[in-house]
Formats: sequence, C-alpha cells, structure tokens
Amino acid sequence: MLEKPMLNFLDFTYAEALQKLSELGMAKFSAKQIFDWVYRKGNYSPGEWSNLSSKNRELFQKNFTLSLPQVLWHGLSKDGTRKFLLKLDDTQTIESVVIAAKNRLTLCISSQVGCAIGCTFCHTGTQGLKRHLNTSEVTGQYLTVSKWLRENVGEDCRLTNIVYMGQGEPLHNYENVRKATEIFLEPQGLGLGQRRITLSTSGLVPQIKKLTDFPPVNIAISLHSAKNDVRSELMPINKTYDLERLFEAIKTIPLKAHRRITYEYLLIKDLNDTPEDVEALSELLTQKESKINLIPFNEYPGSEYKRPTDEKIYWFMEQMSDKGFTCTVRHSKGDDILAACGQLKTQYEKLNLWNSSTSSI
Ligand code: SF4
Repeated sequence: MLEKPMLNFLDFTYAEALQKLSELGMAKFSAKQIFDWVYRKGNYSPGEWSNLSSKNRELFQKNFTLSLPQVLWHGLSKDGTRKFLLKLDDTQTIESVVIAAKNRLTLCISSQVGCAIGCTFCHTGTQGLKRHLNTSEVTGQYLTVSKWLRENVGEDCRLTNIVYMGQGEPLHNYENVRKATEIFLEPQGLGLGQRRITLSTSGLVPQIKKLTDFPPVNIAISLHSAKNDVRSELMPINKTYDLERLFEAIKTIPLKAHRRITYEYLLIKDLNDTPEDVEALSELLTQKESKINLIPFNEYPGSEYKRPTDEKIYWFMEQMSDKGFTCTVRHSKGDDILAACGQLKTQYEKLNLWNSSTSSI
C-alpha cells in the first residue's frame, strides 16, 4: 500500500494547524507549543521539543515535515545588503534580499519562481513564470534567512519588516501569499505587526478588488507612469488593466485598514521624468491618501533605459513635494550584487558564483 505523503506543517495557518492536530487527537495546548517551537524558537527538530509528550512528538513526525528552503549562496554588498539564493524542494531557486536601514532589517521576499507580468525594465520579468510558491516557501524564506542570520551574524540579528517586492507578482499567487501573511501576523507565531509588512502589486485589478479579505498590511502599487501609453510600454499589464481600471479598483481598498497607499515610481531618463509627467502624476493622485516613492532606475547589463541625473531626480521630488505630496527618493541598495530593485534574476550559473570562494557558504 502506498504511504500517505507527508504534509509540510509550514503550509498551515494557526487555525489550520489546530484543525489538523486535533484530527490526530492532540489538544489545543499542544498546537500552541508546536507553534512556539517552530515560529518563536526557530527549532525545527521535533525530537528536541522537550515540553511535548513523546507520543505527540512521534505523531507529529509521522504526519508532518518541516521542510525549509536551503541557502545555496549568500552575497554581502558593500552597503550591507545581503542577497540569498534559496533552493526549493523541487530544486527550483528563488532569491530573498535583506536590506538594513536605520532601526530596520527588512526582508524582501519572492512570491513566485519567475514572473508572468513581464515589465520591460525588470531583469526578473525576462524569465517568465515558472510556478507559484506555496505558503511554506513564502514563510520559509523568512524562517531560513532568520536562522542563517542568527547562526552567522549573531543572536540579536533579527528581521523586523517584510516587503513582497522580490521575484513575482504576489497577488498573482493570492491565496498562498494571503495565508503566508496570516502566518507572519499570527500572535501565536511570528507576531509581526501589520505596519511591518508591505504588499506590493503591479496592478492586478481583480485581485486588488479582493483585498477586502486580505490582512490589513501596507499596500504599495507599482505605478511608474501616470500616462497610459508610457505605463503600457513599461508594464504590459497596463494594456489589460489601464490606469482608469486600476484606480477604480484602488478605491475599493479599505483604506482605514490599509492606511495610505504608497506609489512606487521608477524614474527613467527622458521617459517619465518630464514636467508633463509631474503634472499627470499630481492630477492622478490625491495628496491625502498617497505617498510617492521615487526609485531611480538601476541600470543593468543590456538594459535599454537610463537613470536620470541626481539633479533631475531631486527636481522631480521637489516638484511633487511643492504640490503637497509626501514624496521620497528610495536609494538603491545592493546593486553591486544585483540585489537592487528590478535586478533580481538567477544570475548564478552565468556568473559562476557557485564556485566563488568569497561568498559561497
Ligand atoms: S517588476 Fe515585479 S511584477 Fe514586474 S516583471 Fe518584475 S517581478 Fe514581475
């Protein structure tokens, strides 16, 4: 007789775990203890869970795995940004990036292997979509990187924030990303605050309309232009969901819960950095409900777009600030290790970093 395949416990929200464990005859208290070992103590060896009875430990081991992505490679940028190449159970690879700023240590996580959206400025987008990540592969990035930081940097090195801005369009993988976000927020588990998580989308209108049923985390929209023709050139998704449809959908986001929306705006020389672009952007957005994050384009080998001069970047920011918008410039991190925005792509075979003695672990 074929054996039942093991379930990865990390795929379950707390409510689902309670249900599964109670079906095995375990008490609610045991589920709490298991969540505590896995998510708070970061211990993935059931044999060591000393406060559980041996019967419950055995039951757990018979029915579940705790399979985490593995670190294949790690790179440290001179600005402190760390990039991780992680291997999944089926040998596909994804990337996660840790960005240090002020009192924060933010993990930029991937939601898919590759991406279907195909933004023309994005290195990742050139790969196409290979597959969605499952819930445990989304939360697993946080757990694996946290473990690596504890073991290799120090016990105090803790991730504080999460942004869904790695490979993939998170809302294209809606259900698994929603479940993973619940697990990140779960008070019995990681217990991260809602304000510490940011969900970023390229503008998938049907899924934006479903955000009423998503945990109330920060929302960022990749806008990049307030003109349909330019946005369609940068983001083919705009041909299906143009600015009008996008902003109709944005109106349905329960703002009280999600607070102000951040609009990401990649500044590209001579394409979307002109006085007309300032006008179009200020007409499209409302000051009270928007924050604008300007991201100077990171040039990568072969990219057709160029970065504007620093003067132009600050001119654009001042123009928007003068019009009453909260507008900041996000400086790129980690571009020397291809970890900056739009540069995530599995480059390792190409660069032969597998054999690098400086950064492989
Ligand atoms: S920018 Fe984001 S949504 Fe667009 S192709 Fe790249 S990963 Fe996909």
